[in-house]
Order: sequence, then structure tokens, then C-alpha cells
Amino acid sequence: MNDISLHRSPADHLIALEALYGAKNYKPLDVVLTRGEGVWVWDVDGRRYMDCLSAYSAVNQGHCHPKILQAMTEQASRLTLTSRAFRNDQLPLLYEELCALTGSHKMLPMNSGAEAVETALKVARKWGYEVKGVPDGQAEIIVASENFHGRTVAIVGFSTDPASRGGFGPFAPGFKVVPYGDTEALEAAIGPNTVAVLLEPIQGEAGVIIPPAGYLKRARELCTRENVILILDEIQTGLGRTGKLLAEEHEGIEADLTLIGKALSGGFYPVSAVLSNSEVMSVLHPGEHGSTFGGNPLACAVARAALRVLTEEGLIDNAARVGARLKANLSAIDAASVKEVRGRGLMLAVELHRDAGGARRVCEDLQRRGLLAKETHEHTIRIAPPLILDDSQADWIAEQFAAALP
Ligand SMILES: *Cc1c(COP(=O)(O)O)cnc(C)c1O
Repeated sequence: MNDISLHRSPADHLIALEALYGAKNYKPLDVVLTRGEGVWVWDVDGRRYMDCLSAYSAVNQGHCHPKILQAMTEQASRLTLTSRAFRNDQLPLLYEELCALTGSHKMLPMNSGAEAVETALKVARKWGYEVKGVPDGQAEIIVASENFHGRTVAIVGFSTDPASRGGFGPFAPGFKVVPYGDTEALEAAIGPNTVAVLLEPIQGEAGVIIPPAGYLKRARELCTRENVILILDEIQTGLGRTGKLLAEEHEGIEADLTLIGKALSGGFYPVSAVLSNSEVMSVLHPGEHGSTFGGNPLACAVARAALRVLTEEGLIDNAARVGARLKANLSAIDAASVKEVRGRGLMLAVELHRDAGGARRVCEDLQRRGLLAKETHEHTIRIAPPLILDDSQADWIAEQFAAALP
């Protein structure tokens, strides 16, 4: 039977349409959302939920933030796209504001996170050949096990997740995988042709994995000593999520290339950027890299507003303070199924014991209680609400977990 008009509720109808026509590359919870405001979203039947995923940390500023909305609609009615063949009056201001905020020298605008990662890989290789003097075609980039950097062919080629890479080869050569968090393995892997080390400061998709203290600091020292570019993928950890503007600040270091995306637009629009604090970016010349939409005036106006909201509304400090409170409350839950509560700022996770029945079931129970969270892998529930979360909302989240966790 595929007469979809037979489905009774609007939600069932929409879910059936999706099943009929959509590629099945996702397995979403069966909740059909139609509206969002702040930490809340509503489904097509009018039920309200607290969003504890924030579109994988793209909605740090909360849903439909009025100031970002205003910037977007104003800019959309004036000028949306020029391509980089011409200049626009928003990109220079985003350059200035983002570089000032992050202490960067240069920035390159792209759209998705994966494109920012690809950009960094290209820049690092070119730097390797032109500045470091690596023989042509020999550049090597070191990455970590359980990494998540996006979905392009080059990126999934160095993933260690069978679901991400299986069936998509052949892959680009030139990548070496070392265990995440292991400084000795990293040191041993660096050779004369190593041009870059690419790491997530905290591995989000792997289940909010925090490396041992000092790991990033040591990676920074090794990269400096061996003349290797340190690339930090802060697409998920950046822009306040962990209670600092960038997660690198927790170890007092600075990457050579920092990748941001997701919350750079507050969830309104795909905007990403490569930030550079060294002369690495100067290896790119006109015609060597680009994007039709990268740096477009609509994206830049939205990003400028999203950054202003982040700083003017104190969201970074709020993430640190409310995140600590929520983590403490979650840690205090006495449930047999809980193996560990971990995280930093409002990037938190509850890992369940292997025999606890799986995280998906808990997420479905939480959904019935009005809280949307998503399992990562089989046994971990990620908790990443918008950074505007207040104390009472944090306490409410912990109460729902206390009730839902077996
Ligand atoms: C989401 C994410 C990406 C990819 O971003 P897209 O916009 O989905 O391409 C890359 N790295 C990390 C750490 C991410 O969380």
C-alpha cells in the first residue's frame, strides 16, 4: 500500500512521504517539528519539546534568535549573493569582527563544515610543498581514530568508522591514523613529510570523548618542534559550546588553522570558516580555491549577528556555568544503567552500560517526556542544549533523565 493519503495524522502523513521519496541516510526520531523558539521546538501536533541536540551545536544561540532573524531578513531583502567575482560590503566586516574575536590573522569563508575541513587539508598540503619543502605528492596528514570531520570522499577516507567509510572507496592517500589521546603515538607518527595534524579538541560524534589533560598542549609542542601545522576542528566544540569561545583555550594553546561552522550562523544558514593565525593561508593565490556561496553577503550578515549574540548575551560564560550545574545534577542521578557522565560546558554525554538496553530507548522515553536528545553510537546520549539555557531548565533536563534512565 503506498497511498499516502490514508495516513490519519499530519505527522504520519509527513513521515510516510519521507519514507516514500527520501534517501534513507538518516534514522530520525519520529517527531515532525514545525516551529522553534529559544530552547524549545514544537511538533506538528502542537507538542512542545526542549531541544537538547541543538542541531549538533549549530543552534547555540537558540532557535530563531530575533536578532539573527532581523539581520537575515534585512540582508535578504537587500543583497544575497554576488559570488567572489565581485566584492560585497559584508565580508570585510565579518573578516574584521571574526579575526578580532578569535585573535586570528586571516580567515577564509566556506559554507559547510566539511568544506572548511577540505580547505584546511588543501592549504596544509600546499604549505607543505611550498614552504616546508616536502617532495611533490608526498605530503602526509595525521588524524585521530574515531574522528568525525564530515562526509566528503577525502574525509570519510580517513574515518575509522565502518559505517562512514564502507563502500565509498577508493580513497585519497596521504593520511595516517593514530589513537586519539595518545601523545606517544602522535610523536612516533610524525615524519619528515608530515605537513599537518588534524584533531577535534573533544570528539563529539565519537560520544563526547575528552582527551587526557595535556594532550592538546603536547600536540601543539610537537607540531611547533617538527614544523607541522596543527589543525583543530572546532566545528562542534567552538563558539561557546564547551564554556570557552574555542575549546583550545582549555589547554591554553592556539592552533595554526582553526575550523568553525555550525553555530557560526546560529543555525540560520550554512556558514563555515578557516581561521589562520600564521602565514599558512598565504600559500593560496587567486583561482586556486573557492566556493560560489562562500563569503556571500547573506551568510556574512547572519554570521556577524550570530557572533554578536554570542558575546553580547554572555552565552559562553552561561554555557560554562549552567553546564557545570547540569553535569553535577546528571552525575548525582542514581541509576544502575549509567556508566559515566562526562563533558565540558554544555557539551555533555551520559554513557550507559552495555547491558542497559541501548541509548535509543532512553531517547524515545525522553521524547515522550518532552525532551529531544539523540543517541550517538549505541550506548551514549549526547546532551547539547542551546547555550541560552537557564538554571531551572537545566534542572528540568536532569529531572527528565532521572525519570527516564533505567
Ligand atoms: C558537524 C561536523 C563537521 C561537518 O560539518 P558539516 O557542516 O556537516 O559538513 C566536521 N567536524 C565536526 C567536528 C563536526 O561536528
